[in-house]
Amino acid sequence: MKAIAIRRGETKPTLVDVPRPAPDDGEVLVQTLRVGIDGTDHEVVRGTHGGYPTDEDYQILGHEAVGVVVDATTTDFEEGDLVVPTVRRPPAVGSNTYFDRDEPDMAPAGEYVERGIAGAHGYMAEFFTSPERYLVSVPEEFAEYGFLVEPISNSEKAVEHAFASRSAFEWTPESALVLGNGPLGLLTLAMLNQDRGPYKSFDRTYCLGRRDRPDPTIDIIERLGATYVDSRTTPVPDIPTEYEPQDFIYEATGYAKHAFEVIEALAPSGVAALLGIPEDWTFDVDGGSLHRDIVLENKALLGSVNSHVPHFEAAKESLAEFPDWFVDELITGVYPPEAAERAFETDDGVIKTVIEFDTL
Ligand code: NDP
Ligand code: ZN
Repeated sequence: MKAIAIRRGETKPTLVDVPRPAPDDGEVLVQTLRVGIDGTDHEVVRGTHGGYPTDEDYQILGHEAVGVVVDATTTDFEEGDLVVPTVRRPPAVGSNTYFDRDEPDMAPAGEYVERGIAGAHGYMAEFFTSPERYLVSVPEEFAEYGFLVEPISNSEKAVEHAFASRSAFEWTPESALVLGNGPLGLLTLAMLNQDRGPYKSFDRTYCLGRRDRPDPTIDIIERLGATYVDSRTTPVPDIPTEYEPQDFIYEATGYAKHAFEVIEALAPSGVAALLGIPEDWTFDVDGGSLHRDIVLENKALLGSVNSHVPHFEAAKESLAEFPDWFVDELITGVYPPEAAERAFETDDGVIKTVIEFDTL
């Protein structure tokens, strides 16, 4: 079968021919429809994040997938069911408490592998297998865009943790700022702009980028009803005076200074969730001032990575609520597996691209 992989020592994805996997009992064989590409995939291809499966000289890419069950073996799935897989699996040495508790997203390094990212093959192939418990059913209308459930689920988890950190007192957030206008930032902005669940309370949303107009991401930000903030003219610490202090901040730039600058942009009792994954960078900060600010204004900072089944379930609800124009504008290219190299090319006109293996 066809698969898109990165070979050791290379920095471009290649189409490879590999054996079709065979499901064991309790596993499901899935025929892949579409696999999304995000910033993490680019980091894997560049070699700055994740790693190869042990003893393999290539890694099949892709962790955001949607596909159809073609062999349900002994599971409760049925052939024809549409599914989205989660990303983390137990390490080769066997299971551990995080997986036993169904909280693999809380496992520390070494206690998991990540399909398509770290230590395990991904979903960018005509078929993949997965144990039943790591597959989430999605409705038939998700055949085209269901791969977005995975990235949205990362944000559902971050927001759940942020709200949980403020649950000991009466917290009614009204302003929210997303740092980053990449695919994760834009998906999160759309999520926060829903008139549903915890998102209802946000009246005013902002999204930070560093682009000149005209730009397709700025168009999306404004069409969602949010305010575009340019970090070149309004650095994050100036946002409270230029706009307003922020009750909730979601960081998706991977720009390490933002992890500290958000403290100054938060309103009293506000919380910031950090999701970006920066490389090492040493710089000066006024640690005393930031420390004092967090303490005296009851602010919270949290890191959040990955997600699990409940977050995928929440993400399904968000995806179903997104306006059609939003996903159409977000997906700027759909490519066959043979055009993998083009699918990984980036410029300011590219927001999110997808590999299409099949359609329903
Ligand atoms: P991208 O790299 O596509 O997006 C990052 C965006 O941030 C870009 O649009 C970039 O702008 C913008 N940006 C970077 N620095 C600045 C700055 N100083 N001021 C304003 N804007 C800035 O990545 P994704 O959207 O796919 O993901 C975002 C981050 O989240 C990545 O670091 C990724 O690794 C991480 N991630 C974390 C997950 C988790 O579970 N924790 C899950 C998925 C992703 P421009 O394009 O103009 O350069
Ligand atoms: Zn991702």
